Amino acid sequence: MSTCMGCLEDFDDDDLVWENGLVCKSCESISYSELAELTHETQVYRFGWCSCEDSEPHQYPYSDCPTTGENK
Ligand SMILES: [Zn+2]
Ligand SMILES: [Zn+2]
Repeated sequence: MSTCMGCLEDFDDDDLVWENGLVCKSCESISYSELAELTHETQVYRFGWCSCEDSEPHQYPYSDCPTTGENK
């Protein structure tokens, strides 16, 4: 198992490709520079969700993730 650099989901290694970084098939079309610039906003725009929304315990992978009033 490895983590996709784009959507931060875990995938079997067979489902990941090396595109200037490990990414899943659905993230493959995103360039590395775009990956580096991903934010909560772009994550939601591209994938319709951000991993901060359903991770437990909550994680906020991007600086602009809404933290819903929790301690920063
Ligand atoms: Zn991905
Ligand atoms: Zn987020």
